[in-house]
Amino acid sequence: MDYDDNNVFAKILREEMPSHRVYEDSYTLAFMDIMPVSKGHTLVIPKSKSVNIFDLDEEFLSAVIKTTKRVADAIKKVFAPSGVIITQLNGAKAGQTVFHYHMHIIPVYEKAPFQPHANDVEDEAVLASTAKEIKQILV
Ligand code: AMP
Repeated sequence: MDYDDNNVFAKILREEMPSHRVYEDSYTLAFMDIMPVSKGHTLVIPKSKSVNIFDLDEEFLSAVIKTTKRVADAIKKVFAPSGVIITQLNGAKAGQTVFHYHMHIIPVYEKAPFQPHANDVEDEAVLASTAKEIKQILV
């Protein structure tokens, strides 16, 4: 599959679409998932035109992992989850729905069932305050 410059995450990177950013460096961007599976569900994307792991340059992959750990550490400190799922899907058949490579950071709280996606768009104010709490740790 070719990379589509108009996918939602490409638009978020170009700031053509809003997002609640928690961390950014020259290789990666981390922002709140708009339909969080749990409080603090964050996505980390590379600033490269990569559909999935198979066309993601190793330099960017390393940067994504580093950012993922950094943000997951912050989420752990702020929300004290019982566990944290770190996962990513490759290909529509694997459940991938946005075709710009991304890592999910999904905090798990007591009794929260694992599911890769939610159906409800979260309230803007909730996403903003959640992002703010994570950002405070990352400064
Ligand atoms: P995946 O199925 O792994 O491709 O996951 C795509 C994720 O992107 C889902 O968890 C969606 O909730 C999330 N998502 C879709 N559109 C947006 C958006 N505009 N801002 C933030 N997250 C989004």
